[in-house]
Amino acid sequence: MVVVCDADTLGLRHLPDPLTQAARKPPAAAIYFPANICYALPSMARAERSPIPQPELSQAAVDLARRFVVRRDLHARQLNDGRYICVHKPFHLGLLLAHLSGEITLGTYLLDRKSQARFIVFDADDEPKFSTLVCLAQTLATENVPGYLEKSRRGGHLWLFFARPIPGKLARDFGRGILSVHKLEGVELFPKQSELSSGPGSLIRMPFGVHRLSGESYPFIVASGEPLAASLREQIRLLSFPQTVREAEFDYYRSCMPLEPIRADLEESQHSKSTLSERIKGSVTVLEFISQYVDLKPTNSGAIGLCPFHNDHKPSLGINDRGNYWHCFAGCGGGTVIDFWMKWRGCDFTAAVTELAKLLL
Ligand SMILES: [Zn+2]
Repeated sequence: MVVVCDADTLGLRHLPDPLTQAARKPPAAAIYFPANICYALPSMARAERSPIPQPELSQAAVDLARRFVVRRDLHARQLNDGRYICVHKPFHLGLLLAHLSGEITLGTYLLDRKSQARFIVFDADDEPKFSTLVCLAQTLATENVPGYLEKSRRGGHLWLFFARPIPGKLARDFGRGILSVHKLEGVELFPKQSELSSGPGSLIRMPFGVHRLSGESYPFIVASGEPLAASLREQIRLLSFPQTVREAEFDYYRSCMPLEPIRADLEESQHSKSTLSERIKGSVTVLEFISQYVDLKPTNSGAIGLCPFHNDHKPSLGINDRGNYWHCFAGCGGGTVIDFWMKWRGCDFTAAVTELAKLLL
């Protein structure tokens, strides 16, 4: 592993405050969206990854951290199968250097410990949906709402940045307002939670890394499909001081937010409770869920970690990925995410299902 910097000397606490920096710096170059309406994106969007010159690598990591690192007390890493685990160890710049060099791939959480967001991301998981996101970006640009398009393995993302951290609920209201006004369907909004109640919440791939599954990296692009800037270094520079959403447009879209659907399903009969439990189990894998609470190490069959339910000194908690279950070899039990939550919270099945529905659905 080529980690060339010392986390302490380059530690994030020495970084300038992103807000005061953002206020002083001129905005990044305007994003140019050609006037054409929707069209299919050329497949060249997976541009070649131009390596960052070694002398500029540290500064690139600092720039990337300034805008994209939300949690510093823990971090997320992508596994080779494309999923993420939460590593309960502090973030440091060495991790970003390894991310930029492609040795590891990090995720970034959407909400900080105070449940505040600095950006929202619309996620389209296939090409047709991504082309609607490209159209959305073009429309928003005409309304002076700046957005940044990023390719992903199957579709892509549209990032919208705020000038300062704002409560996750407001960020989501703003995003839902946009989805509602522009009638976008099948596009996911991150953060998925308005507020953290347990665990670090939703995450998205940290930009400019290599997707562990495809082995490719994906650039930020303009609507024509061309990279936002010629080099990776220049893209990072632009994104570290992005154009941000202004108050007037923020307030407008927030006021367009649709009303929350009534969560009647939580109160209904035993029959619907069993349906609810199936939906909970289908909404997250055991590996994804438990990785938010336990520091896990990948194994051939899934992952292992210290069991949180007994005084564990050697990793007794096994997670079988294919079977989608957990098990403590020391006898604490095992099963689904609901079984895990019952033990974690010390509650019964009904209480666990009710809590998990609020957390996950
Ligand atoms: Zn145990």
